[in-house]
Amino acid sequence: MVTHETTTHTTTGSRLKEKKKQEEKEGAHCRRVTDQSRDMARQMEDSHRRFLQTMMANGIVDEQSARTLYQYCCETHNTQHTPDKLDDFIETINSKLQPMFMQVRKGMSEDNGQQFYALVNMAETDVTRMSSDYADNELELFRKTMDLIVCSENGKASSTDILNSADTLTTKKLKKSETEHLLNRLVHDRWLNEKRGEYTLSTRCIIEMEPYIRSMYQDQVKVCHICRNIAFQCQICEKPTCGIKIHNPCVARYFKGRAEPRCPACDDFWPHEIPEVRRPRSQSKR
Ligand SMILES: [Zn+2]
Ligand SMILES: [Zn+2]
Repeated sequence: MVTHETTTHTTTGSRLKEKKKQEEKEGAHCRRVTDQSRDMARQMEDSHRRFLQTMMANGIVDEQSARTLYQYCCETHNTQHTPDKLDDFIETINSKLQPMFMQVRKGMSEDNGQQFYALVNMAETDVTRMSSDYADNELELFRKTMDLIVCSENGKASSTDILNSADTLTTKKLKKSETEHLLNRLVHDRWLNEKRGEYTLSTRCIIEMEPYIRSMYQDQVKVCHICRNIAFQCQICEKPTCGIKIHNPCVARYFKGRAEPRCPACDDFWPHEIPEVRRPRSQSKR
């Protein structure tokens, strides 16, 4: 009797479990449908439009500015502002930008690890996106500069190397003064950063050009072991069979508070100097 009861109980139990599973499945399905209809219902409101207009004017903003702007746009247009829903807010904008091959994308500054949002033209996948502002030979030099940076160990190109490659242009040669002027413009337009005569790709450039860089430099491009984004300025594990790369800010965050730095992949001693975690103005909760 007891056995029977137990059996019945077990059977009922497993049947209940089955039913629950089924319900869960259906629940998941319902949730997906709800998500979809919510996507359909996602409407650009005035707050979204204002946010987008500012992004169009600026091209790129840091995370803190994006948060402030989000709050400002909501308050100005009397819509609900939920501080941790910035990415959802941007998703709504992106859903409307998609047919125009535009997108607001997020990326990290390789200098300080700060997050940025950039408005990206997805239709033009390479440097032709710059063709309205730069002549053909200027774009050729920018491509050569990218080659130098991507293929370098430290993600930098010296002004000397860039000037030398200006001599090898096939479109139309650039004089030294023209090259210097062009480099200043590229920095001013936020495609390159410059520090002590060395050039790096700007955050904007990395966010906008990532698909191009990944396809163009498949063999050379490095990916950060921690955040999985492409990496230029990074530290490299010295064990030859490992050789993983980590962005400097990701190094700083990863090794913070660890007694002895060891490679997250091979566990070898990490011989590089660990940079300080530089906190930008804002504090993320993480
Ligand atoms: Zn990283
Ligand atoms: Zn390693």
